[in-house]
Amino acid sequence: MYQEYFSEEHHIFRASVRKFVEKEIKPHIDQWEDEELFPVELYRKSAAAGLLGLEYPEIYGGTPCDKFMNIVYTEEMIASGSVGLVAGLGSYSIAMPPVLNLGTEAQKQKFLVPVLKGEKIAALGITEPNAGSDVANIRTRAVRDGDDYIVNGAKTFITSGCRAHFVTTAVRTGGTGYKGVSLLMIDASTPGFSVTKKIRKMGWNASDTAELSFVDCRVPAENILGDEGQGFVGIMINFQNERLALAVMAHSVAALALDESIRYAKTREAFGRTLSGFQVTRHKLVDMATKVEVARQFNYRVAAKMQAGQDAIRDVSMAKNFACEVCDKVVYDAVQIHGGYGYAREYMVERLYRDSRILSIGGGTTEIMKEIIGKVSQF
Ligand SMILES: Cc1cc2nc3c(=O)[nH]c(=O)nc-3n(C[C@H](O)[C@H](O)[C@H](O)COP(=O)(O)OP(=O)(O)OC[C@H]3O[C@@H](n4cnc5c(N)ncnc54)[C@H](O)[C@@H]3O)c2cc1C
Repeated sequence: MYQEYFSEEHHIFRASVRKFVEKEIKPHIDQWEDEELFPVELYRKSAAAGLLGLEYPEIYGGTPCDKFMNIVYTEEMIASGSVGLVAGLGSYSIAMPPVLNLGTEAQKQKFLVPVLKGEKIAALGITEPNAGSDVANIRTRAVRDGDDYIVNGAKTFITSGCRAHFVTTAVRTGGTGYKGVSLLMIDASTPGFSVTKKIRKMGWNASDTAELSFVDCRVPAENILGDEGQGFVGIMINFQNERLALAVMAHSVAALALDESIRYAKTREAFGRTLSGFQVTRHKLVDMATKVEVARQFNYRVAAKMQAGQDAIRDVSMAKNFACEVCDKVVYDAVQIHGGYGYAREYMVERLYRDSRILSIGGGTTEIMKEIIGKVSQF
């Protein structure tokens, strides 16, 4: 299937990710979800299996490949049934692109290399209590003092923030607006840095989400990525990839919820027949399958466009919104098909229902995507 996008190499890689998920994740995932944490050892295991650093240069320990390898990775990892795990393990994929794109060789060696080896954990710190969608309005301030910056401020909702070794942090080094934003690599062992809260969430439970505080945190000036004022651009460069990844997560979650629903509908009996014996259930499954298929194919189409180096800002925003809308509807129907069991923790669709809700909020909300689409389309 989808021969225009996936080669033999992709299929081989798919089989190896599937094996990894079956062996290293599935047997433990319920426990990790309950404990709201997965073992740090999983970073090393992922690196050893060649699953960290897709699309990163080999010289830093990455695996150069196309976007479809990353799509394969996401689809198969989501099959673990925990979107939080995929987000936690993958926090480097939003934290490290600015290092790769703006960083010096020394910064790449110091931050990127240990992260891709699975030895260190990286997080991206942009969101603040008073600035989420409005990235250009962040208030965390970094003031130059000799060879250092003194950082004061706070971040919130930071994936992997509770145990990250490095946080790629958006700070204000200049005046108001996006031109005053810079990116600073902050080591979690720096005095004045603290994790003020582990945020408890509706879903994504296997990943930790932190509130961070910086009080007179002295950070070497050499930790700035690029020049002062380049932070906003550094953040924007990876937004398209992050949005594609979220769109792929959404179609993958929906596909998994659909599979679970088909299986359940074929075995659960009511009024002397299986649920799939009712036309209304079959039609519901057909509608779910149709939505998943369209979302998936549009995501692939957009990925191909991005892979070809074409401008896809409008398309990727549409893809994210569409796939998230599909996912929300499909997980809702999946729970409905499961009846009371769909509301019980033991059933996968219960977690998928909770895990999917953040997809249309993180990486740019539905409304912000619409703003972008409207602007690019000149509506
Ligand atoms: C589980 C989880 C993990 C996360 N991980 C990270 C992370 O690793 N790093 C990080 O930096 N952040 C992270 N975030 C934060 C996430 O990116 C933000 O929550 C998101 O960008 C929205 O910002 P906000 O929560 O401040 O909402 P707000 O920006 O306050 O938005 C609230 C509502 O207002 C709407 N709105 C805002 N502006 C407009 C507008 N101009 N037009 C129309 N509607 C508008 C929004 O669409 C939304 O519906 C995470 C969040 C969660 C919940």
